[in-house]
Amino acid sequence: VPFDQLDGEIWFNGQFVPWKDAKIHVLTHGLHYASAVFEGERAYGGTVFKLREHTERLIESGRLLGFALPYSADEIDAATNELLDRQGFADAYVRPIAFRGSEMMGVSAQKNRINVAIAIWQWPSYFDPEQRMKGIRLDLAEYRRPDPRTAPSKAKATGLYMICTISKHAAEAKGYADAMMLDWRGQVAEATGANVFFVKDGVLHTPTPDCFLDGITRRTVIDLARRRGIEVKERVIMPEELASFEECFLCGTAAEVTPVSEIADWRFTPGETTRRLVEDYTAAVHPQRAAAE
Ligand code: PMP
Repeated sequence: VPFDQLDGEIWFNGQFVPWKDAKIHVLTHGLHYASAVFEGERAYGGTVFKLREHTERLIESGRLLGFALPYSADEIDAATNELLDRQGFADAYVRPIAFRGSEMMGVSAQKNRINVAIAIWQWPSYFDPEQRMKGIRLDLAEYRRPDPRTAPSKAKATGLYMICTISKHAAEAKGYADAMMLDWRGQVAEATGANVFFVKDGVLHTPTPDCFLDGITRRTVIDLARRRGIEVKERVIMPEELASFEECFLCGTAAEVTPVSEIADWRFTPGETTRRLVEDYTAAVHPQRAAAE
């Protein structure tokens, strides 16, 4: 079944509409000029993990693109929770998007409506669960994360994903699960939809997010690691250094915590530190389950 033909509902500009009818015009500014920002969230046991943080990032991403969302964080959160209820899923992926509409055509979009939609569907595991504990294989991407003077790199904006899809397709064509992207300076940045961590001598190392998304999962992992007494170093990581790391994992809302076994010619063995953080993250997103055990 094509994705736009599923059953259920989508929240679209304040209304619950049938999934199949949540349509836009082909002359939508967001489509032509990438004036769109979005979020990726996950619900576990009927609760969206860190919903308010995601909603606030959505609003901030819009602000970085020069527009204000016509709904408050409270209204967006309420719509999300009601839609989750109506869709009837306990565990699900949540995709809000805000974009400029089709009232004017051209780079300037002063009169275009800001549309907001939220869709919720079941998306079990981003990476093949079979491969997951063994670690996934990544290629090195050809494209680099842009200089913050070149693009609003802090926004979760659709335009920034153009290079992600190109890079992911190139990696998939070579049999890899994903691609690791460097930044404009040649420093290790992030995967096409997740942040990256490395482990050396029990210490976590992760790039400083100064030109790519500071993931909510990334911040959660840093917090969980510190609570376990694991030291975390946010710093510049050059690709040449990858040879010295023992473990590597990706993290993101969709990817959760996913061990990595290869990045191009570098090799990693998912180990104790990664395993602990997979467990801690699973417990953190399932507070009800943790409390019941
Ligand atoms: N980087 C990119 C490019 C992403 O798309 C995502 C997923 N939103 C992340 C990092 C991780 O962010 P988060 O943990 O907030 O989902």
